[in-house]
Amino acid sequence: MNIKGKRVAVLGAGRSGRAAAKLALEQGGMVTLYDAAAAPAGFENLAEGITCHPLATEETGRECEADIVVISPGIETRGDFAQAFAHGADQFIGETEFASRYYNGLVVGITGTNGKTTTTELVQRMVAAGGMSCESCGNYGRPLADVVLGVDHPEAVSLELSSFQLETIESFRPNVAIWLNFSSDHMDRYNTVAEYHSAKQRIFENQQPEDTAVVRLGEEVGGLIATRVTFSGTDPGGDYEMQGSVMVAEGVRALDLRETRLRGVHNAENVMAAVAAARALGVSCEAAFGALADYAPPLHRCELVRTLDGVEYINDSKATNLHALEAALLSQDRPTVLIAGGKEKGLDYTPLLPRLNKLVEAVVVFGEIRKGLAETFSQAVTTQIADSLEDAIVIARNAAPRGGTVLFSPGTSSFDMFSGYEERGDAFRIAVQALK
Ligand code: ADP
Repeated sequence: MNIKGKRVAVLGAGRSGRAAAKLALEQGGMVTLYDAAAAPAGFENLAEGITCHPLATEETGRECEADIVVISPGIETRGDFAQAFAHGADQFIGETEFASRYYNGLVVGITGTNGKTTTTELVQRMVAAGGMSCESCGNYGRPLADVVLGVDHPEAVSLELSSFQLETIESFRPNVAIWLNFSSDHMDRYNTVAEYHSAKQRIFENQQPEDTAVVRLGEEVGGLIATRVTFSGTDPGGDYEMQGSVMVAEGVRALDLRETRLRGVHNAENVMAAVAAARALGVSCEAAFGALADYAPPLHRCELVRTLDGVEYINDSKATNLHALEAALLSQDRPTVLIAGGKEKGLDYTPLLPRLNKLVEAVVVFGEIRKGLAETFSQAVTTQIADSLEDAIVIARNAAPRGGTVLFSPGTSSFDMFSGYEERGDAFRIAVQALK
């Protein structure tokens, strides 16, 4: 895309917006970076040539005469602010779409309600082990625009894609698209679950028959043009399946997951999806499996913090929805006391009740949704309400039998009390380490 001399408005001065602005400038655009805040940190140390516009409003948008509007994933695409800018522009696209137009290497795009980050890391390692240069990016740490800015582009990117990033693509076409799973989430940003699903499903829309779609068996994704490869940790019949702890790849018993540091059916599925993607790029099974040898999932994802008095304390602060909480419960093999709770996201927790009844000794709830959650959960299991996370840990400790587990898997986001899941997970870890 030639943007020389074109007026480019970039919305949002976070990591994605800053990288997109820099890329647009490098490509010869006349760039203005807009943010609603008075002095966002993102305006500091910007490349010379980028005009900053703080305190941007809808009015600013209506007056803006940009040819191209590039929106950051954090800003609501259909909100009044973004739409005011979109009005009158020739193109209204997201940072992923924009950056992908300047990248000619191979793309593995990864989406799903849960497991994206873990799988993005796995794909990167496997592809690199296969001898290609590969970087992980996207929703994961480094924006694609930042990777594209470098002089030497990697041969491949492992690109984590949220529904927010997929909402604003146009021609973006991943060589391999991974669909890990789908369940209700982000109902604070979408009107219906179907809307959230359609945003994610866009990952496949520009693929061609020579591309690959790696899809969990049984997922409802219609209209695929790419070659479909399936996997499942629970059901037989896919191209990749589990027989006990052994992964069967393309009909061959290939890898015992007990030899890796990845636990639970959910991680088995992440591995299968990553292997399938790496294979589609020509990586050998040996190289893909070799990459797993020293891999551990990132912090805050079923991370063992400590064993005290025979009780394991697990930090799964990244579980910000029901589906992740359910996955954590299913990977426990000891009597479990669950700590859950956090921000009100409008999720319905009743589908968890049969699982709680079977898999959990007791629950301790905390945070903004504690009362509602206690009402729901107490229909299936003994539930206690805590005033703080520290209080919740003490109650859970008293309820946990020797040989049991205290599982901190909140099942919702953290913004009622913390700046994010990392701060929440760190708070859990610190409080658990301090137990006498
Ligand atoms: P994402 O980037 O999609 O949020 P992560 O890899 O960071 O995914 O994991 C988020 C949460 O979901 C963690 O609590 C983790 O234990 C859980 N999880 C990871 N993979 C899966 C999966 N395939 N299915 C369900 N839950 C998963």
